Amino acid sequence: MGEGLTVQSCSRCRRDALVHQAYSGQHLCGSHLSSSIRKRTSKELRLQLDLPKDATREDGEPFRLLIAVSGGKDSAVLLSMMSEIIGRRRDVELVAGCIDEGIDGYRAPSLECARELAQQLGIRFETLSYEEMGYGRMDEVVQIMPAMGEMHTEARGLMPCSFCGVFRRQGLNALAEKLGADIMALGHNLDDMAQSILMNLQKGEIDRSVRLAPHTHSPIEGVIPRIVPLRWIPEQEIHAHAVSAGLPIHHGECPHAPGAMRQQSRAVVASMEASTPGARHGLLHSLDHIRKLHWIANPDSKHEVNECLECGEITSKEVCQSCTMRKWISEAT
Ligand code: SF4
Ligand SMILES: [Zn+2]
Ligand SMILES: [Zn+2]
Repeated sequence: MGEGLTVQSCSRCRRDALVHQAYSGQHLCGSHLSSSIRKRTSKELRLQLDLPKDATREDGEPFRLLIAVSGGKDSAVLLSMMSEIIGRRRDVELVAGCIDEGIDGYRAPSLECARELAQQLGIRFETLSYEEMGYGRMDEVVQIMPAMGEMHTEARGLMPCSFCGVFRRQGLNALAEKLGADIMALGHNLDDMAQSILMNLQKGEIDRSVRLAPHTHSPIEGVIPRIVPLRWIPEQEIHAHAVSAGLPIHHGECPHAPGAMRQQSRAVVASMEASTPGARHGLLHSLDHIRKLHWIANPDSKHEVNECLECGEITSKEVCQSCTMRKWISEAT
């Protein structure tokens, strides 16, 4: 945003600027912000998704791209950008998929925003709920968390997002499988990426960082590859564009979010960026570098994965985290 009370004008035209990119020194109006986001997104999409001229599958079906949407600004911008960039291709089908966690006051209105946008863009819209998947509603999971903690030491001290994140990943995989999707796009922005990188580094989990999306050049066996076309776009720019483009978005926050590790990480990344503009880009560039070095050092390394004894999903343990959690839930209810 422009500093102080004077509104800066756009660095590319005479209109009032909507955002100030401290990392580039530019001020951008709504329309130049939107064209800049589209340009960066389509460049990144080309790098992450190498589509042939005719991507029609051998079975005659179009190449199917599942776009994970939540009703929030990031996935709304992702969906509209994907629609603008490749929505007209006949050999590609976009499907918007929304996971319903069962969170009162939050999911119902945001799901409707997501549905509305998909309808506006003429994109098929599908949902899958935690209840349908046998986890129960997230609101109920939160209520029985203390009981699970009493029964299992590993469940002690877990935050709602630890459960929810595992279930959502599983839900998106299940949705992708049900729809026969070839690839999945997620709405992670630059701030999300920087936070994840920082959290993984803090915990010494380089392996986890290497496995972060995009999976274009490092597919993980048995898991539908993820792409993250918005990964270089700062959150503030996505928000400003979503609002100025009038996209239907839900502004509310999940009631279970406070206390999550990501919240601390968010504050750290924001203060790094404020004191050193470009810090978020630097973190992501570092990750790409680490990733390259990792693949040079381990050219044939496949990520070590097993199949869950219970459900067959890919896991690093014998029984996957979602099956373990499902068991805890059924014991505690
Ligand atoms: S904030 Fe946490 S609990 Fe809420 S929807 Fe997101 S992951 Fe789930
Ligand atoms: Zn302009
Ligand atoms: Zn399992």
